[in-house]
Formats: sequence, structure tokens, C-alpha cells
Amino acid sequence: KKRLMIIGAGGVGNVAVRKSARMENLYEVIMLASRTKAKCDAIAAEAGPVPVQTAQVDADDVKALVRLMETFKPDIVLNVALPYQDLPIMDACLQYGVDYVDTANYEPKDEAHFEYSYQWAYQEKFKEAGLTALLGSGFDPGVTNVFTAYAAKHYFDEMHYLDIVDCNAGDHGKSFATNFNPEINIREITQNGRYYEQGEWKSTEPLEIHQNVDYPRIGGKESYLLYHEELESLVKHYPSLKRARFWMTFSEQYITHLKVLEDIGMTSIKPIMFQGMEIQPLQFLKAVLPEPSSLGENYKGQTSIGCQIRGIKDGKERTLYIFNNCSHQMAYQDTKAQAVSYTTGVPAALGTSLVARGIWSKAGVYTMEQFDPDPFLEELGPLGLPWEVVVDGKLAFGE
Ligand code: NDP
Repeated sequence: KKRLMIIGAGGVGNVAVRKSARMENLYEVIMLASRTKAKCDAIAAEAGPVPVQTAQVDADDVKALVRLMETFKPDIVLNVALPYQDLPIMDACLQYGVDYVDTANYEPKDEAHFEYSYQWAYQEKFKEAGLTALLGSGFDPGVTNVFTAYAAKHYFDEMHYLDIVDCNAGDHGKSFATNFNPEINIREITQNGRYYEQGEWKSTEPLEIHQNVDYPRIGGKESYLLYHEELESLVKHYPSLKRARFWMTFSEQYITHLKVLEDIGMTSIKPIMFQGMEIQPLQFLKAVLPEPSSLGENYKGQTSIGCQIRGIKDGKERTLYIFNNCSHQMAYQDTKAQAVSYTTGVPAALGTSLVARGIWSKAGVYTMEQFDPDPFLEELGPLGLPWEVVVDGKLAFGE
């Protein structure tokens, strides 16, 4: 049996720990380590049957991480702290000699700028060490990459148009709250949009391009074009793609609140002086907003995330829509989390278990579409995220 270390005890960490702790045939023990130990203890108290130990760690500190690994002796490490911690945790995994999994790509703290280059630069180091690093094992990135790989493997000779559509039609009853870490969320949506077309990246103003998209069992929702990190690896690995875009729904209420917060400078990541202390407005805002993990209990409705793909099979045009719908209430009953944490934590636990079992194992740094999608999708439904495929149905987007 294996020893699993999970770093980060937020919304996603909670789900990943609870799900992994039910894999008693695979794991003998789990270590949950995070900045605030009390949060680890609260999760550990309710998780099982695999025993969960806890520890305090500063994941920006490579030495502290290596020390913890030396005492716990993990066979695999799952990073569900924040994107800023990806590189120190990867460095610690290399120093100690253990496989690595995360759910979001590295982002420097001082600029809202996310891309894979920082982590792809570790390719040779992981190869030489004979270790696997699996990047982006959440839902998007994560399951969306696997959906695309599955479509390429079973349904298309060539994929031409990819639109990833992400809808949260849930209602948490608060006038404004973000569904995952507010800092990361707001940084993501206040930056320029970007998409890939005919070999080039095209930029848009933030939330400039939007369209109504019909989501299964939800209906029409206004969806906004954003840059999302899986586009970068997918267009690299599927060069037949002529266009790749990412869309996410936001309610009018959400956008109005965000606009006001932006206009008054509350979403800025530039430090300011406040009563003799340097603070970042966005971090201060995070402190006054509801904790994403607290939204679960009264959350109603569902999420729907999937890939709409157009391409060619046996010389004929084909369309494919592959998606999952997830109910906030089901997620809460299963793990005391809302669906946004759930749809990330479940694939994080699953991707980690595939690496731990050696089913997905390759020395080097890889994104999800670089592995065989079949074993992942076989287990995703039974683990709580069933998915559906519609072939040759009508898609939201023309050519
Ligand atoms: P939260 O903010 O809820 O949790 C983050 C956790 O990491 C907190 O427990 C926090 O500690 C801990 N942490 C932060 N900094 C450090 C540090 N220096 N050392 C140790 N622990 C630290 O975020 P989420 O759970 O919502 O998100 C977790 C990750 O998942 C993020 O990287 C996010 O980008 C990613 N994500 C990916 C998605 C996908 O589909 N691929 C979707 C949603 C999220 P403390 O409790 O003390 O604050």
C-alpha cells in the first residue's frame, strides 16, 4: 500500500482528502499538511477509513517541505495549495524523490500571469530523476483535457474546433462570493481574454466576448470568453485544432459586483500602504468575502462543464459534446463541499491514484491529455462525476 501526502486544506483539499481516504485498498495512510493545521485537523476528523495524519507546513519553504517528506516518507504528493506553491513543492519532490500531482499551473505572486512554461522547464529534471509530475488534475484543467483526449482517441481523425464550456447554475444565496480562492478567481477573470485561432493567440478585453450557451438540463446562460490554462497544452498536443476557446458563465449580479470592486481598486494586486502596513487590496478583499468552503451547505442547483468539438471522422464532419453535470447538494452530501470544490477534488484524487497505482506513469512533466484517457474515465463516474457523450448533436458554436 502507498503513503499519500496532500498539501493544502482548502475547499479542494477537503474533497481530495475525503475521497482518497475511502481508497483503503490503495493507501495505508494520508498526511494532510497546510499552512493552518486546525483546518487539516477538522478535515482529518471526518475522513476515513484510511487514517489521516496532519501537519503544519509553509509550502513556500522547500527545506521545510523536504523535512516533512523525510519524516512521513510519501510515495506520492498531491498539491492542492495555491498555484504560487507549485514550484517549491516540485523542487521538494525532486529533492526527496517522489511523484507529484497538482490542479493548477504556476503563477508568480506579483503578476497575474499563468502559463505552463515555468513547470515545463522541469521536464528534464523529472525525467532524469525517473519521477512523474502530473499537471492540472482538476476539472478544467484536468477532466476537460481527458475529455479532449478521449474524443481524439475514439471519435475523430482530426479535431478542428474546440470550445470548453463551464457553467455554474448554482445559487448560494449570497450577493457576492467566489466559488474557489477569491484571489485566484478574480485574478483569472479580470485579466484580458485570450483564445487560439489559426496558429495565433488573440487577445480580448476582459469579458469582452460573450454568447448565450445552452447547457444540458440547465438551459441558456450567458457565457464569457476567458483565457484558461488547458488551452495552452491542448493546442500544443492537438496541432490539427484551428481554434480553441474557453467560456464560463457569470450572472449579471456577479459581474456588476466585480465591476464596482475593480473600479474602486479592490481587485488590484499592487501593494498599497495602509495604516503603516503594506497590504494587497485583493488579499484584503479575500479576507472579507465568504470562505468558498462555507458556501456548500445551502448551495442549490448544478454545474455543467464539458467540451464541444467539431472535426472529421472517416472523411465526414462530426460534432461531439462530452460533459458532466454535478449537483451542489450531492457534492455536499458526499463531502461537505460545493460542486466547484467537488469537481476539482474528485479528479485530483483520481489522477493521484492512477499515478500511485502506476497506471499513469511516465518519467517527466505531463498534462492529463498525454496519458490514456480510458482508465481515468472508467473510474470518474463511479467516483461521483458521471459524464455523457452526445455525437452529432447541435453545438452552441458554428465555425
Ligand atoms: P483554498 O484557498 O480554499 O485553499 C488553499 C489551501 O492552501 C488553504 O488551506 C491554504 O491555507 C493553503 N495554503 C496557501 N498557501 C500556503 C502555503 N504557503 N503553505 C501551505 N499551505 C498553503 O483554495 P481551493 O481549495 O479552492 O483551491 C486549491 C487549488 O485548486 C488552487 O491551486 C486552485 O487554483 C486549484 N483549482 C483548480 C481547479 C481546476 O478545475 N483545475 C478549480 C478550482 C481550483 P490556509 O487555510 O491557511 O489559507
